[in-house]
Amino acid sequence: MSSFPEALADRFRRFKHRHFVPNAEQYEELATYGQNPEVMLISCCDSRVDPETIFSAMPGELFVVRNVANLVPPYETAGNYHGVSSAIEFAVMNLRVKHIIVMGHSGCGGVKTALDPSAAIQTEARFITRWMSMLDSARLRVLASHQMSPQAEKLTALEKEGVKTSIKNLRTFPFVSEIEDKGRLSLHGAYFDIAAGSLYILNHSRNEFFPL
Ligand SMILES: [Zn+2]
Repeated sequence: MSSFPEALADRFRRFKHRHFVPNAEQYEELATYGQNPEVMLISCCDSRVDPETIFSAMPGELFVVRNVANLVPPYETAGNYHGVSSAIEFAVMNLRVKHIIVMGHSGCGGVKTALDPSAAIQTEARFITRWMSMLDSARLRVLASHQMSPQAEKLTALEKEGVKTSIKNLRTFPFVSEIEDKGRLSLHGAYFDIAAGSLYILNHSRNEFFPL
């Protein structure tokens, strides 16, 4: 029988003692009245890119969806299971968040697979290959505009293009574009550089990322 990792059990006890107990009132309030976050954040599963840590968030502040390469699929109702779309629907229609932030990051393994699909084929990553095909046209754009660039620069460019693709896909959800048009919802792109600890924000009118 497998046992729960002891290190995590210790971390939980530490959380309970150092974080939960001093904030017990806030937790009780959240439990009683429910959550009311103003921000939805879509980020990668990558363990180095934790939104709550990066934004020093308290419980109830960020409505977070994490998936491989922080992707938002385009709106479509075929198929049965739509995890990301369900979360977007809930955040926009029920929680009425004011901001949706898509946050990409440096050294993204998912985006690396999109840049070089043969890497995934070698490991029989059939789910990832299909999922990352969302960046097919972004990859072609990056390859065309970075023909002479080293692979690392192409990767960074595609990581940033991926954020733009997700924002574009967000706008294919009728309720997202409708509420954005009414000025009640803002869409943002961000990019976290792990080694430097820097955050870049997408400037929509210039279509480029600038450091915060
Ligand atoms: Zn990633």
